[in-house]
Amino acid sequence: MMLKPSIQGLLFEELAAFCKTEGQPAFRAKQIWDWLYVKRVSSFDEMKNLPAPFRAQLAEAFTFQGLEKLETKGDSGETQKLLFKLGDNELIETVIIPSRTRKAFSDNNIHTCACVKSVPDEPRNTVCLSCQVGCRFGCAFCASGQKGLIRNLTAGEIVGEVMETAKLLGGRPDNVVFMGIGEPFDNYDEVMKAVRILNHPDGLCIGARRITISTCGVVSGIQRLAEEGLQVELSVSLHAPDEETRFKLMPVNASWPLDDLLEACRAYTEKTNRIITFEYTLIKDINDSETQARELVRLLRRFPCRVNLIPLSPVEEFDGERPDTETMKRFFQILENAGINTTLRDSKGSALKAACGQLRARRL
Ligand code: SF4
Repeated sequence: MMLKPSIQGLLFEELAAFCKTEGQPAFRAKQIWDWLYVKRVSSFDEMKNLPAPFRAQLAEAFTFQGLEKLETKGDSGETQKLLFKLGDNELIETVIIPSRTRKAFSDNNIHTCACVKSVPDEPRNTVCLSCQVGCRFGCAFCASGQKGLIRNLTAGEIVGEVMETAKLLGGRPDNVVFMGIGEPFDNYDEVMKAVRILNHPDGLCIGARRITISTCGVVSGIQRLAEEGLQVELSVSLHAPDEETRFKLMPVNASWPLDDLLEACRAYTEKTNRIITFEYTLIKDINDSETQARELVRLLRRFPCRVNLIPLSPVEEFDGERPDTETMKRFFQILENAGINTTLRDSKGSALKAACGQLRARRL
């Protein structure tokens, strides 16, 4: 069965073109955009300043995305994982991560950034989005990749995730991260379209710098992003400083070896003047030695970057443990001493990433 396209999957320009084709005045697209993303209605009937026949035409041509929430794990005000059913009954997860900015820093007894003093103690919400149903990259510690890729999400479905979380939060989220199920650069066009819709100044207006795209190391995607002229944040999951260890953890390394990945990252920073954040999950006796820390320094010295060290949160799918605190501090200190801006984070983010896909996996 052919599903109708979602109106939330249209760029503003596409919506304007549709309105023009239907003989509507130029301001009509702006009115619809406002109903969608500022007033955040959930039916065409609620768009009261549109002529009734045109509302019927819209309903004929498009659907509201209509993600159906099946399950919520976690309490309001805390991290919440949401399980959604899509129009074709496939399942995805979205995570809401609330934080008070100052608290987020001070919770971490190792990170000692001077900005702690200047950051206001204000609540923020980050939404972690899925961009695919399943994933074909099969990283060792991730539930999402266990059964492979089913399909890409459309831009409308991705924007739909944000709109559903906005309903729960009572407003748009402050930050959006593409760190849920799927690899964003494996669904490049729809992810970029969603980014442009979320970023539109007359709509949700989520600043590009508040949108993070996280890749497991798809070099072709990094190269394309460098040409987009977008100010989004790029995060690259590294997790090992040598080919052998990385390949064990991340099969993507067979297609894009570490050398190629780092060269693409260097070229990206040069072209965009933007700093990349490298994610490095610390796993006991696998990637946490002092030698590996020094090797990481050697690799990353060639361009400006940040490193997030995250202790592994054990998950069923992966037989690994987090290192002890002393080991993690030593690893952190080697990077810091080399002048690499490094944060040793709580494992909350890692737990989410590692456990991402588990609500869905339980239902398969
Ligand atoms: S970590 Fe990301 S890229 Fe790797 S399997 Fe999971 S969803 Fe896919």
